[in-house]
Amino acid sequence: MDMTVQALQRRLIALGYPLPHFGADGDFGSESVTAVNKALDELATLRGVKPPEAVANVPATTASDGLTIPADWMPDAKISRIIFHWTAGQNKANDLDREHYHILIEGDGKLVRGKPSIALNTEPKAKAGYAAHTLNCNTGSIGVSLCGMAGAIENPFSAGKQSITRAQWNALVYVLVQLCKRYGIQVDRKTVLSHAEVQITLKITQRGKWDIARLPFDTSIQGAIPIGDQMRALVQSKL
Ligand SMILES: [Zn+2]
Repeated sequence: MDMTVQALQRRLIALGYPLPHFGADGDFGSESVTAVNKALDELATLRGVKPPEAVANVPATTASDGLTIPADWMPDAKISRIIFHWTAGQNKANDLDREHYHILIEGDGKLVRGKPSIALNTEPKAKAGYAAHTLNCNTGSIGVSLCGMAGAIENPFSAGKQSITRAQWNALVYVLVQLCKRYGIQVDRKTVLSHAEVQITLKITQRGKWDIARLPFDTSIQGAIPIGDQMRALVQSKL
């Protein structure tokens, strides 16, 4: 009998994948294999092209678990605003993604630290090696990015195969709340905004950036400002 296998079997049963014939017997037989495969299939469904309701129903309190930004990711700096993006890459953060942002949120809502320190983007002037996430608007700006949207097209809208998820959107709320508290930022359209809002609200020309003017998991809301307003309202409600 193997105690590790038995622990896994107990966990499967607790999660609703019964082992009717053999139970948690510590022997990794075909019944256990079938149960693990079923669990993995369901997980893949949740993480891939999922029914939006399934993810949307995850309570916000669950999304906040494990989302605490480590203190050393938030060094002293003079910060005026937070700009949120998508990477236009995969749902996992790669090295290139990590060069451009301070904090990345992967497809499952997990936080990944970018390479540049927030301290490098400090006012009055960003220092060498700063995170270059927004054209002519990096000094005093933290860049947070949702991993995904490779190959996405704005019109007619296509999210591509790595669309951003509700889990990432929920995680972003908690990331922004923590950053606002840490850097003393009052939430308004000029201080907490998406990249797509920068040109409209701050009048700083960007090159056709539309992150985030579409939410693949909620097409009832469209456009940079309405989507930004929704995020700001969510952040306000948690502050
Ligand atoms: Zn961007």
